[in-house]
Amino acid sequence: MYMNTVCGVKVKKSTQYRCKLNGKTFYFHGAACRQTFKDDPPKFMGRQKKKGLIAQLAEASDGQPKTCH
Ligand SMILES: [Zn+2]
Repeated sequence: MYMNTVCGVKVKKSTQYRCKLNGKTFYFHGAACRQTFKDDPPKFMGRQKKKGLIAQLAEASDGQPKTCH
């Protein structure tokens, strides 16, 4: 299992939703979640162990929470 960096959901590495960046492959559980990552990759990189990403997402998007599920 792999921890989705956008919302903390665990995803299988066999998922079809992936994004390769800087030689690293990121896995997502859905297209919307992957798109959220692609919109601003630096915001999510290196934060795998942090909690509360959804709240940060909501704050960073002008009060418009980005839903991905
Ligand atoms: Zn998600």
